[in-house]
Amino acid sequence: MSLPCLKDHSIDSLRERFQASGIERWRAEQVAGWLYARGVESFDEMTDLSRELRVQLAEQWSLRALEIDAVQRSLDGTLKAALRTRDGARLESVLIPEEARNTLCVSTQVGCPLACSFCATGALGFTRNLTAGEIVDQVCRMREVLGGAAEITNLVFMGMGEPLLNLANLTEAIRLLVHPKAFGLAPRRVTVSTVGVVPQIEELLSVAPIHLAVSLHATTDEVRDVLVPINRQFPLDVLLGELRRLEGVNKRRPVFFEYTLIDGLNDSLEDARRLAPLLHGIPAKVNLIPMNAHDDSEYRAPSPARIDGFLRAVAASGLRVTLRRSRGPDIQAACGQLALRGGHDHAA
Ligand code: SF4
Repeated sequence: MSLPCLKDHSIDSLRERFQASGIERWRAEQVAGWLYARGVESFDEMTDLSRELRVQLAEQWSLRALEIDAVQRSLDGTLKAALRTRDGARLESVLIPEEARNTLCVSTQVGCPLACSFCATGALGFTRNLTAGEIVDQVCRMREVLGGAAEITNLVFMGMGEPLLNLANLTEAIRLLVHPKAFGLAPRRVTVSTVGVVPQIEELLSVAPIHLAVSLHATTDEVRDVLVPINRQFPLDVLLGELRRLEGVNKRRPVFFEYTLIDGLNDSLEDARRLAPLLHGIPAKVNLIPMNAHDDSEYRAPSPARIDGFLRAVAASGLRVTLRRSRGPDIQAACGQLALRGGHDHAA
């Protein structure tokens, strides 16, 4: 039987487990510091631990949750890592280098059960949730790929799967990612994207002051029911009502609304003009993403002129809006394309 993975546990959880096996509680911070802040890969490298303790830990815990199967580099510098879990499940993470930051797009499930009609991952179906260790090890494995050449500065949970359907493991991973003695990322550098699993949003935001991104993609329930089927369970007024309520309860960071522009479906000027009244009362920023074509969908991006018209109409309504440049489309690493073809994304 394989050993439990130490990366499945936040520092608080590890303290409890260490205590239960006779190890001092404070060792949890020490081990986490070696693993995440200093990036070591074995207990042997934790040189301020006694030899006896290193042997005991190695007998009780495993450290690696993922192995790298392959790495692809896009013409624009985007890196996509194909990864494998200990039980042979496959997933992908994507590193997007930009001038001032390097953003890692992290997966939370193997496949996805929500079957959004524009998304290649949805077409895969659902295998299982990733463990907390498999979530944080995506950061460790991408660091291994980078070999010290660059730092990962930002994380977006927009890879394979719907993060809020895996809330317990996601929150355990976030606790490690933002803990100053572990990865030490500022919470504002972490964004979790959801298609709108409404009952889980408040709990997610209570973990740390991270950013929330919502995959909106439509301005009417009629169209959103087609693109994002969970809209039938949590329609626009329920989803947006909850975001207004949370804003009222707590001063949150702006919510990013992701909007994939699909030719002839959600890209009209009426759609553009409906956005501002729809999002009224929510501190919103809209990101427009022209549809990234893939084999599992007939949807296509609108023409550049139509995209430009949509962008101008949204900006004229007073909303903050940006047009996202697609990254890594030649290696199927762009939004909506991750499908284990030598290439998904949460469409964001
Ligand atoms: S867009 Fe996100 S929630 Fe929808 S099928 Fe793709 S991975 Fe799942």
